[in-house]
Amino acid sequence: MKKIILASNNAKKIKEIKEILNDIDVEIKSLSDEGIDIDVIEDGKTFEENAKKKAKEIYEFLLSRGDKNFIVLSDDSGLEVNYLGGEPGIYSARYAGEHGNDDKNNQKLLKNLKGVGADKRDAKFICQIALFNDDGKYFGITGEVKGYILDDIEGNGGFGYDPLFFYPPLNKSFGELTADEKNLVSHRGKALLKLKDLIIKLRHSKINN
Ligand code: IMP
Repeated sequence: MKKIILASNNAKKIKEIKEILNDIDVEIKSLSDEGIDIDVIEDGKTFEENAKKKAKEIYEFLLSRGDKNFIVLSDDSGLEVNYLGGEPGIYSARYAGEHGNDDKNNQKLLKNLKGVGADKRDAKFICQIALFNDDGKYFGITGEVKGYILDDIEGNGGFGYDPLFFYPPLNKSFGELTADEKNLVSHRGKALLKLKDLIIKLRHSKINN
């Protein structure tokens, strides 16, 4: 049986991934479960570079300590707003300077889009997952969802930019969706479903050889 090691200690992400992969017979471990204390610097220029770097460093560490039969996963995600040339992008978590301050990030986004018409407020969330198999093979997975940036907060669910992200097919902001509703359509939900598909194939097919 392969073990999956998530290059993260973020409890929320780990829970989400475990839920999606719950019917696959595999152990899922965080870095701390594995006694790994490595803080990978995210200095890439794209979501993929960051996700890949995190997974690769952990992959190389596991190899160096003699582990076998494992998969390493990492992810990087954020919001891209067309009118702002793709900002906040890879800086989504610290757009307003302070890491993870959702209120400040949202206020900065609203300020930067002040006076910009509805037809120019299109945006997308991106979730990039990197997977390294124990044979060193890399797989990149992307999930995206398109929407619009509102001119004020709507809803108080979710996290990050959710209350500003309007999703036309459901006529609601992500901040107004339940977690289950969001998972069905979100960038992360889509990426995780593709991931599940890939993991099942890796365990059963020749991609592995
Ligand atoms: P992370 O790479 O998943 O930690 O996400 C980086 C940042 O992107 C978060 O701090 C949020 O600001 C933003 N972000 C990523 N995914 C979402 C989402 O599903 N909703 C709202 N904001 C998100």
